Amino acid sequence: MYFNNETVLYLDGKFVKANNSTTDLYSQTLHYGYGAFEGIRSYETEQGTKVFKAEEHYERLKKSCELVKIPFNYTVQELVEATYALLEKNNLKNAYIRPLVYCGQNMSLSKPTSVSVMIAAWDWGAYLGEKLLRLTVSSYCRPHPKSIHIEAKVCGHYVNSILATNEAKEKGFDEALLLDSDGFLAEGPGANLFFEKDGKLFTPQLGNILPGITRSTVLELAEELGLEVEQGKFTKEDLFQADSAFYCGTAAEVVGIAAVDDYQFPKNWNDSLGKKLQNAYSLLVRKPTN
Ligand code: PMP
Repeated sequence: MYFNNETVLYLDGKFVKANNSTTDLYSQTLHYGYGAFEGIRSYETEQGTKVFKAEEHYERLKKSCELVKIPFNYTVQELVEATYALLEKNNLKNAYIRPLVYCGQNMSLSKPTSVSVMIAAWDWGAYLGEKLLRLTVSSYCRPHPKSIHIEAKVCGHYVNSILATNEAKEKGFDEALLLDSDGFLAEGPGANLFFEKDGKLFTPQLGNILPGITRSTVLELAEELGLEVEQGKFTKEDLFQADSAFYCGTAAEVVGIAAVDDYQFPKNWNDSLGKKLQNAYSLLVRKPTN
């Protein structure tokens, strides 16, 4: 699914066959989750393939590495160029792109001995599908921002996301909704949350969430559309009085939420602010320029 005999990866400045690529079983990233990654999408536009917000994603990768003290020996520009070359070599247009900064052999909890960057790309449909989601509030909360750098996209943080997703699916839901360690609404395992009440949008403030690039894009689009948005600390009770809600993220794009546990959002998705933003997002990502 992710690669075939022809697929090429970018690895430390070179393009290599995915089939012949291996990883080190003594890698600090494999054992301890000590690595950082990104999730990016490219879109076919009237003027060729565009990697949406490529610079922003590689800036976040750099920041993630800096926050957890993994040396980042690349420029944003060289990784952006490598990404375009990778798409071309794999003949991909509408693709999902996965850069990963990972560490070499080191079984101790000390500084990495060596660091590599690899970039893979493949065709991937909307991560959470197209239909409205049924969520459940997770029994897992997001990691406490004093125990990790919550704003960094670090490999090991995703054990929390995997636990929450699997718990939700085992209970028969499509996806989880996680609260922060103080019980306020936080985000999904791989997406940010917005909800609508009386014509206004609300979204959890930064501090206990990953600062999503799609979230910032939605905030920009909301401003352009003249929509009011409040960022703050909200509770489940606020959500259970909302008219509509949606998740947003690079992989999921903008996806409507039908219900959270027993609460069904009363507004028809097609009449919601989320739907307006979903349309605006879909147009924006396919515009020839960012
Ligand atoms: N929250 C989490 C925990 C995520 O993993 C993601 C996906 N990167 C998001 C939010 C959305 O971020 P973005 O819009 O930058 O993809």
